[in-house]
Amino acid sequence: CRSRLLTRMPRRGTYRLTVLSLLTDLEKEVVKFRKKLKESLPGSDWDPLGTTKGLPPEQADVVIVGGGVMGWSVAYWLKALEPRRDALRVVVIEKDPTYSRASTVLSAGGIRQQFSVPENIQMSLYSAFFLRTINEHLGVVNEPPVDIQFNPSGYLFLASEDGAAKLENNVRIQRAEGAEVSLLSPAQLKKKYPWINTDGVAVASYGLENEGWFDPWSLLNAFRRKAMSMGVYQCFGEVISCRITSSSMRDLVLIQQGIRGCSVQMPNSLEYQPVECSLVVNAAGPWSRKLAEMAGVGIGPPDTQEGIKLPVEPRKRYIFVWHCPDGPGLDCPILVDTTGAYFRREGLGGNYLGGLSPAEEEEPDIQDLEVDHDFFQEKIWPYLAHRVPVFESLKVKSAWAGYYDYNTFDQNAVLGPHPLVENMLFITGFSGHGLQQSPAAGRAVAELILEGKFKTINVEKFSFQRFISGEQVLERNIV
Ligand SMILES: Cc1cc2nc3c(=O)[nH]c(=O)nc-3n(C[C@H](O)[C@H](O)[C@H](O)COP(=O)(O)OP(=O)(O)OC[C@H]3O[C@@H](n4cnc5c(N)ncnc54)[C@H](O)[C@@H]3O)c2cc1C
Repeated sequence: CRSRLLTRMPRRGTYRLTVLSLLTDLEKEVVKFRKKLKESLPGSDWDPLGTTKGLPPEQADVVIVGGGVMGWSVAYWLKALEPRRDALRVVVIEKDPTYSRASTVLSAGGIRQQFSVPENIQMSLYSAFFLRTINEHLGVVNEPPVDIQFNPSGYLFLASEDGAAKLENNVRIQRAEGAEVSLLSPAQLKKKYPWINTDGVAVASYGLENEGWFDPWSLLNAFRRKAMSMGVYQCFGEVISCRITSSSMRDLVLIQQGIRGCSVQMPNSLEYQPVECSLVVNAAGPWSRKLAEMAGVGIGPPDTQEGIKLPVEPRKRYIFVWHCPDGPGLDCPILVDTTGAYFRREGLGGNYLGGLSPAEEEEPDIQDLEVDHDFFQEKIWPYLAHRVPVFESLKVKSAWAGYYDYNTFDQNAVLGPHPLVENMLFITGFSGHGLQQSPAAGRAVAELILEGKFKTINVEKFSFQRFISGEQVLERNIV
């Protein structure tokens, strides 16, 4: 480029013309350079000299941070329930357009009614109804219908002598909430599934309806497509800070006035855009504590309300896929063993998918999403082979890891506002059962925003307040 500039030094009278032609040449060179850069990064949309596209609006009523299934569910419900069209300006901000680490897309896709907390059962029942009628909610005119590839299949929970009373009690609660769940003795279990070794099983529970699995990405996309068709703004960028108004003391209690806006850093850029807003929905999944801290939650002195952190952290969970042509076959439930190991059929070609949550002291490092294959060989496989002897000959085909948005306090959702930062609303902490609860949880948060209270299902139990009062809402059926 430089040598070409030297040979084009201007002659008298032609100076203006030459500068113009130099600029045109320079532009051509830049275009070539950008093309070359893009070609050297195959598959990448990195465009270092491009202008920033998709800036968020400067003002919004509701900023939803996190474009996973929770964020888009809230966005959809805000539009579906808003009192008049375009009453609210809603923006969903997602830092990773590829969703490479999002909990939603790395999940196993299961839905079950078999929980121990009534509100969890109610939420899953509502979600099952929603998924059954999904096109009435998420269908978009002139677009193909939504297909989440739902596979109906009951969950089969096995309990040892020690866990039998707990399982039976859970089933009582489930039935009282309207879930169809049957109890099976070891003999009934053997008759129904002859391939199960019933040693060590005292009782089993089996879901008769509203259980199964589906494709998580399809659900996320369906929420997103519908919400955007209703006017929700999507922005790719990372919320890096929140602007909060100064705190004040009232009756010896610190009141934080709330969030006024947040700053969004654009992808592959140092550019950031401030967005003023009235409400921030914290749908940042495993990273929701970091976002809460940006709004001042949990950064005060320890032993004060301001010092109580959002107890949600990323916890790594593996999923393994194995091949076993002589395995249980088509009539295979989603089996959760007495040991906590679980599996289900994956497709129709003799493949199965499963995992096991590690013990607290075995929690793996969360820095990356590497899979520990020894965990399968040493922990999971022996449990599987004991329960289903034919799995002795299985062959692992693939595996991946993802993060649970794990609530260390009581393994349950956190829904609703923070008592001090009232305009940050949480929808996080689902600890491995969030995907299936997303239709109900998103609706609950939207109701709170629009009507000031939960209407369809009262999920007040899941408020942040419980971390202050110390009252756990323990879910005993965590997989
Ligand atoms: C291995 C595994 C198996 C699972 N199995 C099941 C199952 O069978 N059934 C079930 O119901 N659930 C299951 N889950 C749990 C379920 O996937 C999650 O509870 C649910 O997807 C959480 O959704 P989310 O939208 O809150 O989180 P995510 O999908 O993680 O979305 C949060 C998003 O926020 C973005 N974000 C974070 N911080 C910022 C920021 N500062 N600015 C902008 N964006 C930000 C992230 O990039 C991310 O995309 C499983 C999870 C895993 C990991």
